[in-house]
Amino acid sequence: MAHAVEIRDLHKSFGSLEVLKGIDFDVEPGQVVCVIGPSGSGKSTLLRCVNLLEQPTAGTVVVEGVELTHRDVDIDAARRRVGMVFQQFNLFPHMTVLQNVMIAQRRVLKRGKAEAERIARENLDRVGLSEKAASYPAQLSGGQQQRVAIARALAMSPSLMLFDEPTSALDPELVGDVLTVMRKLAEEGMTMLVVTHEMAFAREVADRVVFMDGGVIVEDGPPAQVIGAPRHERTKSFLRRVL
Ligand code: ADP
Ligand code: MG
Repeated sequence: MAHAVEIRDLHKSFGSLEVLKGIDFDVEPGQVVCVIGPSGSGKSTLLRCVNLLEQPTAGTVVVEGVELTHRDVDIDAARRRVGMVFQQFNLFPHMTVLQNVMIAQRRVLKRGKAEAERIARENLDRVGLSEKAASYPAQLSGGQQQRVAIARALAMSPSLMLFDEPTSALDPELVGDVLTVMRKLAEEGMTMLVVTHEMAFAREVADRVVFMDGGVIVEDGPPAQVIGAPRHERTKSFLRRVL
């Protein structure tokens, strides 16, 4: 089967600052790959290049056989296949939860109102928030708001989900509910690329862990190897600091 994601010799510079220095890896359909590494190592830039929020300086990104980096590609169509969840939830404060999960379906996918509402309710159910459909974001906890953001991304029927430190802005007692939703998505077979500092989650849920430092991949392997028995000194010293 084709790779879900194929990244080849990806480079990204901001002016004279080279942030990604040749990244290569694949994600297989249904795999969960966790990306770990120190602050500033290029993790967010990597995710942003995968859904073209940033234009790579060189290299290719292929998602489900479509080369997003090809100059003739329909960027909007390509981007729609990739859902993204950020550290900050970015919900519209003046819209209800239901409206937040419907709006991009209506505007971007041009779904009819009844269909968008049905899909919104299905996905709110999926993240355990059916009963909050009529609430406003300010009435929800941070963990609930992040689950709405996940439902909003899922409602676009993406073939790949990107998560950039989805629990880093949450109070510690709210982290578990968000990770539970992500674990469930993984069990349902969603292909996921997750930047996280939650080592227990990475160990338990990831099929592979990628350790990045200084814009390169230092180690890539099963969690038991990369987290449990790291080979490189840079990985060891990072893990000593976070575990
Ligand atoms: P991480 O997510 O691993 O903490 P980032 O990908 O956010 O790292 O950032 C990697 C480096 O790229 C940092 O030095 C950061 O300052 C720089 N960087 C990220 N985005 C931009 C930008 N839009 N313009 C200039 N520099 C940036
Ligand atoms: Mg980051």
